[in-house]
Amino acid sequence: MNGITARLGNFWTKPRVRIVFWAALTGLAMGISGLGLPLEDYLRNVRWMSRIQPSSGGIVVIQQDTRTLGELGANDITHGNDADAIRHLFSAGAKRVYFDRSFSTPGSREDDAKFIEVLKANSGKVVLGAAVDSNGQMGNYAGKMPLQAYRDYASTASILVRHRPLNLNVQLPFASGSPNGKIPSISAAIAGIEGGTDELYFPDFSIAVTSYPTLSYIDAIRGQFDPAIVRGKDILVAPTAVSFNDIHSIPGQGVNAPGAYFHAIGADTLKRGMPREYGWFPAFLLVLVLVASGLGRGRVLDIYRFSGLVAVVGAAPFLLDYVGIQVEVIPAFSVALVAVIRMRNLDRVEEAGETNTGSGLPSVQALRNSADVSTRILVALKIRNYGAIIGSFAEHVEAQLAKEIVRRIRISDENVMIYHEGGMFVWLSSIRSSFDLFENLEGLHRIVQNGIQVGGIDVDLSFNCGVDSEFGRALSGRVASAMQAAEEAVRNDELVYQHEAGKHEAQWEISLLTSLDRAIDNGEVWVAYQPKLELKSNRICGAEALVRWTHPERGPIGPDKFIRIAEEFHRIERITRFVINDAVRVAVELERSGYELTMSVNISAQLLRNPGLPGMISEILALHGLSPNRLILEITETDRLDRSSRTFQMLQRLVQSGLRLSIDDFGTGNATIDYLRYLPASEVKIDKTFVSSMEGRKDDLLLVQSIIEMAHSLDRVVVAEGVETAKVLEMLTGMGCDLVQGYYVSRPVPFRDFLDFVSGRRARLIG
Ligand code: C2E
Ligand code: CA
Ligand code: CA
Repeated sequence: MNGITARLGNFWTKPRVRIVFWAALTGLAMGISGLGLPLEDYLRNVRWMSRIQPSSGGIVVIQQDTRTLGELGANDITHGNDADAIRHLFSAGAKRVYFDRSFSTPGSREDDAKFIEVLKANSGKVVLGAAVDSNGQMGNYAGKMPLQAYRDYASTASILVRHRPLNLNVQLPFASGSPNGKIPSISAAIAGIEGGTDELYFPDFSIAVTSYPTLSYIDAIRGQFDPAIVRGKDILVAPTAVSFNDIHSIPGQGVNAPGAYFHAIGADTLKRGMPREYGWFPAFLLVLVLVASGLGRGRVLDIYRFSGLVAVVGAAPFLLDYVGIQVEVIPAFSVALVAVIRMRNLDRVEEAGETNTGSGLPSVQALRNSADVSTRILVALKIRNYGAIIGSFAEHVEAQLAKEIVRRIRISDENVMIYHEGGMFVWLSSIRSSFDLFENLEGLHRIVQNGIQVGGIDVDLSFNCGVDSEFGRALSGRVASAMQAAEEAVRNDELVYQHEAGKHEAQWEISLLTSLDRAIDNGEVWVAYQPKLELKSNRICGAEALVRWTHPERGPIGPDKFIRIAEEFHRIERITRFVINDAVRVAVELERSGYELTMSVNISAQLLRNPGLPGMISEILALHGLSPNRLILEITETDRLDRSSRTFQMLQRLVQSGLRLSIDDFGTGNATIDYLRYLPASEVKIDKTFVSSMEGRKDDLLLVQSIIEMAHSLDRVVVAEGVETAKVLEMLTGMGCDLVQGYYVSRPVPFRDFLDFVSGRRARLIG
């Protein structure tokens, strides 16, 4: 059961199956809605026009024309006139006389007597018209019948006509309903055919209107015509004068002619054989079957087959016309057209390699081909064991696996278009900040780590990512960079690698990173200590540990540079462990030398999201035997923190374990008193930019002053960093600042120098 639905699902995801489905649906909609009818009529007209032919010659049209009315000096013809005409026609040998007029109103008493007499004399050979009663029942119903007195001697035939949508064509009934039950249509009566009331047929409009022999009614009334014209013929009397208002366009012939010609042509059509209507379904079905049979070849419909199909489906009605069979072809054409257009699009996409056939996702090549530039971060996610996963499963697993991966990526990066190539999934992230993006990728990593289910089987996935934020470059280059960064991440077992600002630079950063581990191991990385001076006692009360990297070739590399890179590439943990370890060891050594100093270390915001941090710190403290309350963690970027966040919980855990927190760079973010109140920090460090400039800038001075007041009101210790002059030191003392740190006191120096410095001054001594 599962297998079947899966297979069906899979069948459905094949683009070609979808093409056939949509083609079929379009055709069905066309057929059922009748939207194609005007076009159908147009095609029919074209076919008729192409094989225009003469009439059978068995029918003569006698025209009650303008000349007739003019010479009679009347608006209409009287029944007396009709009586004269009928008499002359039959004496000339006419077979029957059909009136395309309804005789529903009586004439004068004299005329009626004369008319009825003639009908009686030619009983059964005159056929009078029955028309639609515009006040009565509509549809195929001739409610307006000839008077009973006439019908005693004459028969009746319906002169109804059905105009098609947009007036592009005309159909006739075989018979119509009437107050007297079923009566034949006039064309069926002339052709001598019996038919039902529920069917209509198309007169064969290839029969030319101009090929019918005609006479003017006035000549028939007067008996002034060549009897040979009417001998043995069916006579159709037609009101053709403009005043009768019965002029219509004749389909397929581009001419206007009296409506009676519909009946004449209809009669000739019926004489040749019963026309048959098969509608749109047969051609539709035929084309659909042909199109669907292309599926087996994987091709549905190419342009050559399409042309062939159109030629056949287009030509068939021409041939069928000759044997009186009408079919409609627009729904069939729509099937072929939709199939070929969609197939061509698919071809184009596939030619350009724009769809990955395994997963059904757009291919990475499609992204490379795109001429756009984008200001979004490009992410390349590499599934490490992709090949192995695909290889170990049945054939359809790739699409499902891809679907699962895409679904998870879109949990945090909504609606992004994801491109696929081998084990790489590439997308332009909707997340603007690389920091947030990394967070999300970490989240994704956690989700995927627990394994995902594909086709009911647990699959272990592991991935690494490369990102590129070089917005100015063409996408093809950026894709390469991101993929390269992802490979680099795999090699170094890091979650994310970032490619940035020029290939060279990135290469440099990457080489920087790869050499960072080595640098830590072989002593290029070391820790400098900068003293903190307590103003009240004028004693050194602590130190801040600041990391240093002295590269053998490049010389010193500032922490501002490599700390940022290490954060971006998730290497900060290793560095921090190294610094804390050194700082704690040094603090213990100071303690042994009799100095009771606090030790401050910098913890990057990213690390605060790492649940392993408290464990790491307590491990180091235990290793060296330092009490936690001697260690101060300087934290930054805390201004966006909300109380329910995991980072906030982390801060609380750290404080509960006895550590102290210090808010670094205070004043740079939107520090408010409320935020200061709820952060569990014991110390506030005013950022050096304000401190070093407070001598010259009044606003910075005021800011420093208000920070000190604010912090004191909440019982926080205030540290001013970046104190470079005696003047600033003096001002801070005046403002009641607790501690200062800066070049004026001491630069950050190697521990040996620091020890010398403290022993030279009066540092806080134990005891
Ligand atoms: P920070 O935490 O604000 O550290 C203070 C910075 O100010 C240090 O720069 C220090 O050398 C400098 N400084 C000290 N006194 C003065 C002064 O009087 N005037 C001026 N202009 N500057 C002074 P450094 O050592 O280059 O460190 C820069 C930043 O790197 C630090 O800023 C900190 O955010 C980060 N950092 C340094 N070491 C570590 C570390 O071990 N871990 C982490 N996560 N970040 C660190
Ligand atoms: Ca600091
Ligand atoms: Ca600072």
